[in-house]
Amino acid sequence: MSFGDEERRKEWRRKKEEVNNDLPTRTSIVMPYIPIEKNCADCARIFEISSGEQDFFRRKGLDVPRRCKECRIKRKEIREKN
Ligand SMILES: [Zn+2]
Repeated sequence: MSFGDEERRKEWRRKKEEVNNDLPTRTSIVMPYIPIEKNCADCARIFEISSGEQDFFRRKGLDVPRRCKECRIKRKEIREKN
């Protein structure tokens, strides 16, 4: 009977897809980010980018910021005024 074989093949394919779908989420949870210390590009002060922030920027496909929070806020205010 070929019907049983087809069912088994479908089941196998389904299981394979489950495993594949599972992988990306699992790795992103397991992979921890270590806080980075950086020199601000504007004021040269050392600021820290927490693991949560790194995760946030990478999820959005952005680079981690080169400026400290204060300088980023300042730049944002200047941009909004213009
Ligand atoms: Zn700064």
